[in-house]
Amino acid sequence: MNNFAFLRAENADDAVRAVNANTHAAFIAGGTNLIDIWKYNLRHPELLVDINHLPDCSAITKTVDGGMRLGALVTNADTAYHPLIESRYPLLSKAILAGASAQIRNMATDGGNLLQRTRCYYFYDANAPCNKRVPGSGCAAINGYNRIHAILGASEHCIAVFPSDMCVGLAALAAVVNVTGPNGERRIPFADFHRLPGDQPDLDNNLQHGELITSIDLPPKGFEQNYSYLKLRDRQSYAFALVSVATGLELDGDVIKDARIALGGVAHKPWRVAEAEESLKGKAATPENFAEAAAVILRGAKGYEHNSFKIELAKRAIIRNGMMAVEPESQRPGAKPSL
Ligand SMILES: Cc1cc2nc3c(=O)[nH]c(=O)nc-3n(C[C@H](O)[C@H](O)[C@H](O)COP(=O)(O)OP(=O)(O)OC[C@H]3O[C@@H](n4cnc5c(N)ncnc54)[C@H](O)[C@@H]3O)c2cc1C
Ligand code: SF4
Repeated sequence: MNNFAFLRAENADDAVRAVNANTHAAFIAGGTNLIDIWKYNLRHPELLVDINHLPDCSAITKTVDGGMRLGALVTNADTAYHPLIESRYPLLSKAILAGASAQIRNMATDGGNLLQRTRCYYFYDANAPCNKRVPGSGCAAINGYNRIHAILGASEHCIAVFPSDMCVGLAALAAVVNVTGPNGERRIPFADFHRLPGDQPDLDNNLQHGELITSIDLPPKGFEQNYSYLKLRDRQSYAFALVSVATGLELDGDVIKDARIALGGVAHKPWRVAEAEESLKGKAATPENFAEAAAVILRGAKGYEHNSFKIELAKRAIIRNGMMAVEPESQRPGAKPSL
């Protein structure tokens, strides 16, 4: 039995102050990840600060620049089915709905989604060495069963992947995370929010202890005409991605004016390569051109004993998803993609 205190915060300042004052305090939103982590004995908060009643964090609103703001406490389900998100950012709706189950999406919040922990089996096994759980203890996955692990951006200290689907969509859209903390407010571009493992794999992201996510901003450009999210996994439902791809295209006829491609399931953070996206501009949206971009995105990829297949899988997924983005109607249930 682990004793803990529980505080229901009425405003963001109180929540930040309470968590900042205790290194063993944690915010709790939907609880779908934190409670699991707790039950696995990976974390024992002394103080749980319930943020579900904070004002101003539970709505989806328009921003002055023509984009949209997702309150951190909006559920994944309410985000995916919001009429303006469905119509203006269908890529994000699709990414969210590819994740978890209807029940979990009803509880899971948008802020919490960004902070979910890896699904590396050894992270959850207290008997296994794991630098993310116990810094300096080693990494059981590198020479272990590493089918679900990273092929990009890994280090000799950790080869875990970040498991979110929603965040792959947010990366492709170049969202911005709004945070308030002991030192005030800041805005973090999505590409800088999560981090690679390096020699500190215990840190998943660049948030400081006591910092609270208040909202996530979506820029005006939503790629609502040409988009696709493709998730490849061992089971068609209720499973994390082996590889996922979020693609947004702006087309002039069949010529690409702008392109975004983000990969999930392959690295410690959603993976985007600006050079590959730039290289597509001015080219026709063809499998051959997506294949060239895929080669750039997967440059430097490294497989381990059980996951080398992911390199080719990711390349093929980028090509297929690019062509699906050209014809988003091909994603309707029952429709066949053109490749
Ligand atoms: C069985 C199962 C299957 C799943 N499958 C998928 C999947 O396929 N794809 C996918 O993307 N996700 C999946 N998920 C993950 C799920 O989306 C996350 O658990 C959920 O989004 C976390 O949100 P939450 O509100 O429940 O967070 P919580 O569990 O409440 O919190 C998670 C972490 O975030 C912190 N936190 C929460 N909100 C804030 C905030 N506003 N500011 C600062 N810190 C905060 C907490 O302190 C905690 O450390 C799955 C989860 C489960 C249990
Ligand atoms: S891959 Fe990372 S999370 Fe998994 S065992 Fe190694 S250090 Fe731990």
